[in-house]
Amino acid sequence: MSICYLGGKFAQLSKCRLPVTDMAVQRGVAVFEAVRFYDRKLFAADLHLARLAESAKRAGIAAEKVLPLLPEIFSAGVKMEGCPDEGLVRPFITGGDVNDKGRFPEPRFFVIFGAITKTSEEEHRRGAVLVPNRMERPYPLCKSTNYLFALIPLSSADRLNHETLYMPDGEITEAMTNNFFLCRGGKIITAPVGRVLDGVTRKVVLTLARENGFVIEERCPKVEELAGADEAFITGTVNEVLSVVRVGDTTIGNGKPGPVAAHLYRLFLANIGRWLSD
Ligand SMILES: *Cc1c(COP(=O)(O)O)cnc(C)c1O
Repeated sequence: MSICYLGGKFAQLSKCRLPVTDMAVQRGVAVFEAVRFYDRKLFAADLHLARLAESAKRAGIAAEKVLPLLPEIFSAGVKMEGCPDEGLVRPFITGGDVNDKGRFPEPRFFVIFGAITKTSEEEHRRGAVLVPNRMERPYPLCKSTNYLFALIPLSSADRLNHETLYMPDGEITEAMTNNFFLCRGGKIITAPVGRVLDGVTRKVVLTLARENGFVIEERCPKVEELAGADEAFITGTVNEVLSVVRVGDTTIGNGKPGPVAAHLYRLFLANIGRWLSD
């Protein structure tokens, strides 16, 4: 069961429609967020809202009238009967019908409240496999709805693959919907914000890792470092912390989920409460 806030009111998601004239449909102009809620409490909503503002700005979408409305819509929505106890709030801001040479002065917005398809126990036990994608994700600080160029390399790969991993020019940036981390020589290596999206889960996991004495190096891991890595993992709102055991043909470590990811995942689960709000 899912509900959606659109045009000033909540309705059943299946009843909600976007006009075919919207620039989201015609030109792929839309930005969004996925905010987790646990027991109807929002996880790091302020960080997601700040990033949504940043994404809209970078996309030329005039979101200043929309953004202040969202906190109240979020808290009203998660309390509604049609909303599950645990799931995702997904606000979208679209380009609307007016394209003024790359400026979008009259955006539309809607907010979906729905269940989440969690990472299966089995995938956590087995670890994820990623498909190489040799391109750079354009405008890394913008969380746009356009995932087409991350999905294309996935479509021809084995169905066991989790998602694609951007690897432009021998460097590893991020995965399709997750940030990427490599563990090597006692350090955790991850691409700096700016080369990649400012992932909320990335930020939380790095905070917890630093608090617990892990050494972090913020630079893009090299593709050639994959083979000699001890382990790798990804972080994101849906997957939380998930081990990566293979990238393309390259097996990582012993091909099994490693202890650093397991430790950080335990820390993440134990500390969720620190980032929750009503
Ligand atoms: C959403 C997303 C992430 C992860 O961000 P979270 O805030 O942790 O969910 C990382 N990279 C890309 C490209 C994304 O779209």
